[in-house]
Amino acid sequence: MTNYNEYMKSETWRKYRQKVLDKQKVTSLGPPKYICGNCKGVFTYLEVHHLTYERLGHEQIDDCIGLCFTCHPIADINRRYSARVYGLMNKCDMTYDEARDWIEQKEEREEWER
Ligand SMILES: [Zn+2]
Repeated sequence: MTNYNEYMKSETWRKYRQKVLDKQKVTSLGPPKYICGNCKGVFTYLEVHHLTYERLGHEQIDDCIGLCFTCHPIADINRRYSARVYGLMNKCDMTYDEARDWIEQKEEREEWER
């Protein structure tokens, strides 16, 4: 796997992406519709969100989920947040709760200093 953007244009990704979407397809006649993996709303188009980048380039079927245009950005923020928590746990040998509290306290301090 060389380049993320190249991969997003590849045939491998296109096929995998469609498999993820097919799992969330509403079975009915007419143009395809899909159920958002988060809010359960029905949409004609879903974006495919990586739950993990661990297997980027050779994803398993549950590594990604189809999300609507409202839920996708929220999921991206949550993934960044989890990455910070797990980063602290590894680097500073903290428990999950300690890392989460530390980040929340830090954000409160920054809010207050603004
Ligand atoms: Zn949604």
